[in-house]
Amino acid sequence: MRKFNFCAGPAALPEPVLRQAQQELLDWRGLGCSVMEISHRSPEFMEVAERAERDLRDLLKIPDNYKVLFLQGGATGQFSAVPWNLFGAGSKKADFIHSGHWAAKAIKEARRYGQVNVVASSEDRNFSYAPSADSWRQSPDAAYLHYTPNETISGVEFDYVPEVDCPLVADMSSTILSHPLPVEKFGVIYAGAQKNIGPSGIAVALVREDLLDRSMENIPRSLSWKVAADADSMDNTPPTFAWYLSGLVFQWLKAQGGVEAMAKQAEQKSALLYRYLDSSDFFSSPVEKGSRSRMNVPFVLADDSLDKQFLAEAKEVGLLNLKGHRSVGGMRASLYNAVPLEAVEALVKFMADFEARRA
Ligand code: PMP
Repeated sequence: MRKFNFCAGPAALPEPVLRQAQQELLDWRGLGCSVMEISHRSPEFMEVAERAERDLRDLLKIPDNYKVLFLQGGATGQFSAVPWNLFGAGSKKADFIHSGHWAAKAIKEARRYGQVNVVASSEDRNFSYAPSADSWRQSPDAAYLHYTPNETISGVEFDYVPEVDCPLVADMSSTILSHPLPVEKFGVIYAGAQKNIGPSGIAVALVREDLLDRSMENIPRSLSWKVAADADSMDNTPPTFAWYLSGLVFQWLKAQGGVEAMAKQAEQKSALLYRYLDSSDFFSSPVEKGSRSRMNVPFVLADDSLDKQFLAEAKEVGLLNLKGHRSVGGMRASLYNAVPLEAVEALVKFMADFEARRA
C-alpha cells in the first residue's frame, strides 16, 4: 500500500509514472533490455530525450530563443555554474536577494568568483517573508540578479517576479511546474529535479541563448551551458534513467491539464492546510501571510515536546516524512504536484484529531 508522502525531496512521484516504469523496466519497447541499459546516443533514447524537451517546452511555453538543458550536479552544481557562465563578459558583480537557506548557499558560491551585492534580505525577521522590491539598490553593472522564488526549508514563496535591467536568474528547484511561468522575463531558470520534475540525479536549466557566450575562461567543461547546449545535453553520458522518468512525469503533467491545473491544485491544497493552521492554537505557521509557500508548508506545535509523538503517530496512520529540516526543526509538509488533495485532507484530519485528544 502506498502512503501519503510529504517529503521535501527527493519527493513523491506520480503513481502512474512509477507503475509505467515498473511495467517496462525489464523489457523497454520490446528491446529486450531496460532503458537504463542502452546507449544514450541510440535512436530510441534520443527519442526519449527529444520528447522530454518538447513536453517541457509545451508545459512551460518556453520561447524558441531558450535552450533547455538537462544537467548533472543538481541545483548545487548550478550555484557554481551561474557565476562561471555569466561572469565572463566584463562584470564580475552579481545582485542577490537573500531570502533564506538556499539563497545563502547560492550567494556563498558566487562570492568565490566575483562580488556579491545583497540588494534585499529578509534576515531581519528570520527569513519569514519574501523581501519586497521597494527598497532595493541594484548595481548598475550587475552581470545578473539571482533569487530563489521558493525557499524549500522555510516555506517562503515570492508572489511576484522581480523587474530588473540585468538578466534575471532563478533557482526554481521547489516551485518549477507548479504554475504558469513568464519564462521571457528570465535569463536563466534552473532546478534540481527531485521535487516536481523527477528523481534526483538530473537538473534542468532554461538558458536564454544570448547568455551562452558570457562564460569565464577556463570554465570547467561539465559546468558550461554552451558545451551542454552544443551537445544537446550529451557532452558526456547523461543520467538516462532520471531523464526518462522525468519525461514520463512531463507526459503525466500534460494529461493532468498542465501547469494551470497544477497551480489550481497547489492553491487548493495549501489553502486547506494554512486555514487549519490559522484556526488552531495548537499548531501555527511561522511564515508571514503573503509569503507562504504553496509547495512547502512548515508548521510548529505550540508544545514542541510533542514533536516526536506527532511524527510517530502520523507515520502510524500513513503520513510520511513530516519532520522539518534539521536546521529549523518543527514540521514541514511538502505539497508538490504528485501529492494529491486527499493527502492534505488526511493530514488535516489527523492534526485535528491529534489536537482534540490533547484538549
Ligand atoms: N535550491 C533549492 C531551492 C532546493 O530546495 C535545493 C534542494 N532541496 C537545492 C537548491 C539543492 O539541490 P540539489 O540537492 O539538487 O543540489
